[in-house]
Amino acid sequence: MKRLKIMTAATVLIVSGALVSPLGTTTAEAYNLFGCRHNTVNVTYSLGATATAYNSPLSSATANWTNTTDANLSQTPPAARISFVAANYGNVGWSGIASGSSTCSGEIYATSSAVGIQINRYYTDAYTATQKQGVIGHEFGHALGLAHTGATSTPCASVVLMNPSDGPRNSCVVYTTRADDRNGVNALY
Ligand SMILES: [Zn+2]
Repeated sequence: MKRLKIMTAATVLIVSGALVSPLGTTTAEAYNLFGCRHNTVNVTYSLGATATAYNSPLSSATANWTNTTDANLSQTPPAARISFVAANYGNVGWSGIASGSSTCSGEIYATSSAVGIQINRYYTDAYTATQKQGVIGHEFGHALGLAHTGATSTPCASVVLMNPSDGPRNSCVVYTTRADDRNGVNALY
């Protein structure tokens, strides 16, 4: 199930700050939901294999969701709703995935191991710390119930954390939640 929120023109002017078009015709992205949510605002994650360079980006990414939305992400070993792993999965075409994020029962995720986040170090080891944070934050967005929003080539004013590709997010320096991402999570929690 997908739900769509249409932002008003007035909202666009407030949240985007600098519009490309003086006529305000820039199209704001509207969040998409998988139709799943955790039945609590306190969403736990466990830490599997990773590397030291990912510790700070992981902390920053989860703190960003916690600090900017009604959802709270916290690390609780070993059983948790979300598992996090950063490993080398090779040249497979994805820098991160969130397995299970679109699967739930009656819109509610399982209380344990509902979503498995995998960050692919084959690509992301070469990313800066903030770019790593962007990928991790994006996958946690999935783990909270957000689907992709936006095309692969959009003006930066419309590029949000849940944009499907690293390219637009990296070139537009979008490594933390945007208003649309926050609105999506706050609609769920
Ligand atoms: Zn994604």
